Amino acid sequence: MFKKILIANRGEIACRIIKTAKKLGIQTVAVYSEVDANAQHVLSADEAYCIGPGPAHQSYLLMDKIIEVAKSTGTQAIHPGYGFLSENDLFASKCEKAGIVFIGPSAEAIRLMGSKSQAKALMQKAGVALTPGYHGDDQSATLLSKEALKIGYPVLIKASAGGGGKGIRLVERAEDFDSALESCQREAKNAFGNAHVLVEKYITEPRHIEVQVFGDKFGNYVYLFERDCSVQRRHQKVIEEAPAPGITAITRERLGKAAIEAAKSVNYLGAGTVEFIFSREGEFYFMEMNTRLQVEHPVTEMITGLDLVEWQLRIADGESLPLDQNSLTIRGHSIEARIYAEDPQTGFLPSIGPLVCMRMPNESLNVRIDTGVVQGDVVSPYYDPMIAKLIVWDTDRSLAITQMSQALSKFHVLGVANNIYFLDQILKTKSFAAAELSTKLIEYEESQLFPQQTEPSPEVLMLASVYEWATFAKGEGVARYQKGWRLNSDAQIDFVFKGKEWRRGVRLSLSEEGIPKSIKIDVDDKNYEISQLRTDSDRISIEHDETWLSALVLSDNSSRYLSSAHGRWTYALMNLSDQVHLKDSHAGELRAPMPGKVVMVKVKVGQNVKKGDVLLVMEAMKMEHAITAPQDGVIQACLCKVGDQVAESADLIVFE
Ligand code: ADP
Ligand code: ADP
Ligand code: MG
Repeated sequence: MFKKILIANRGEIACRIIKTAKKLGIQTVAVYSEVDANAQHVLSADEAYCIGPGPAHQSYLLMDKIIEVAKSTGTQAIHPGYGFLSENDLFASKCEKAGIVFIGPSAEAIRLMGSKSQAKALMQKAGVALTPGYHGDDQSATLLSKEALKIGYPVLIKASAGGGGKGIRLVERAEDFDSALESCQREAKNAFGNAHVLVEKYITEPRHIEVQVFGDKFGNYVYLFERDCSVQRRHQKVIEEAPAPGITAITRERLGKAAIEAAKSVNYLGAGTVEFIFSREGEFYFMEMNTRLQVEHPVTEMITGLDLVEWQLRIADGESLPLDQNSLTIRGHSIEARIYAEDPQTGFLPSIGPLVCMRMPNESLNVRIDTGVVQGDVVSPYYDPMIAKLIVWDTDRSLAITQMSQALSKFHVLGVANNIYFLDQILKTKSFAAAELSTKLIEYEESQLFPQQTEPSPEVLMLASVYEWATFAKGEGVARYQKGWRLNSDAQIDFVFKGKEWRRGVRLSLSEEGIPKSIKIDVDDKNYEISQLRTDSDRISIEHDETWLSALVLSDNSSRYLSSAHGRWTYALMNLSDQVHLKDSHAGELRAPMPGKVVMVKVKVGQNVKKGDVLLVMEAMKMEHAITAPQDGVIQACLCKVGDQVAESADLIVFE
């Protein structure tokens, strides 16, 4: 076995690989960018080398520099993880030239599968069913739109070199084709350095089912069954599970065999994933092959009891497949939820900032957490904003869902927006519970997943104010007493809490003994009685209307995060004098939702626009984000131009 490997990646996947290397007694070398100097993958590797500044193209994508580190440290093999250089055939061949094993397939296999167009051509030859479409070389708009008509709308335009859900456009009507093509090509060029696209039939309400395959250098292949990754937003996976619900043994075998055909066609070595799209009629078509370890590989590990990174290392080291097809079995059911620093309420915009507080469930035989961050780390704008993968296992699907729901209820983050509550809501939808999976699930369950009610209930405000009182009572709140709230002479305390779209003044009345007994909220005239309360470090329980309510509250300076049966709330405890500032809010200015680059300004000063019109397009985290008009109006000023790098909350457009 290798004595030393280098991991050309960061975050949870680098940590994941280091774990297996340690188990096998392999020394590990980490590389990192300046912003990752204290990252977990750096701390857990045996050696670590800084390779440049934050932006990936100045660090994690520097092939020669990484190979130089590998050589100078006596590394025998490089594991590329996923993303970054994992599907870069040039990197694989550079490794080979340097006499270092690339832990993955051959450069040739990566190249062939790296282009969705070429891969489709290859599969056609191998006799694997394809989604109908055009995957040829002619890239003229005229030809592509003619092909789209032939295929029949709706169609998808996909960047051939795309990945991670980027560079995909759904086009429903012929008249929208040209502008979608243009935008897709631009995103493809920016994100993948290649504007080549393919057009294919859009399968309505499909399922995404993929097969894990492995090949060794002796020409043996196995499939480690399938994963259902249908629950997606923006063509990106959010929840994955294995096995795929409702797949019969016969279909499973057909899928497995088709996946192996795909792998064989490129003499595949190591771990790969063949993705299929399932129509509602149960037909499946080849979509693409990912020539690397997949983000969601843990669900396969949970149901097979295997360590896929160990398999990768053994195969790269020249061993044969550890097990043959007949020795592989499925046990129980596993689900993975990707916990992202992103805000489901604002179209899943990534959220950047420090993980001020983070609470995670305990790991057990049923619960696994793969993460690369700890409390205090920062989600930076440079990389994927995934905080952790939460993986559960149980003997069947419904028990696994319960495990996941319980684990999510113990996962709390203060500092960045996140999707934890949203994930839990997905589990609770009828479609998910009934395993009626499709890539449309999130859209169909919109009303439940994106609740309109975005203002805290009196129960939440009771809990929030009792928390402040308790913190103060513990003697920690002297400064807060002066700043954040005021104790009135008649034993009343006034607070102002401010969430993203709400602000509440709350008056807490105390008994003669100084114990909270009721609150009044500035928007109504009621008294909400608190009959009993308990406080215990960061937990608050109160009795109201003969019911006990309880919450976990995390705090940092004036920021608060409160989680209770009444939802998860993030808000600030306002300095009372801040109330003045709230009045001069900038309703007429559209601000950058995140740091990024302005790639298109579609409006001019004086122009009339309608609600929903795209005013400008920003690019951030390799994706385009359209800034649209919040209502009908007139453009008063454009405060940015194409090419500008803008900070989060920078004013972009003044709008009346
Ligand atoms: P998976 O297909 O394993 O579920 P994702 O599609 O979420 O994984 O991609 C995993 C990571 O790799 C993400 O950070 C994604 O942005 C990145 N990624 C995937 N494919 C590419 C690609 N071709 N180019 C750049 N980044 C990619
Ligand atoms: P990526 O490389 O970004 O993962 P894929 O080709 O795998 O790109 O597609 C990503 C997702 O887009 C799929 O998981 C699926 O939800 C959706 N998708 C892809 N092709 C189709 C199609 N022909 N019809 C409907 N949805 C599709
Ligand atoms: Mg894919």
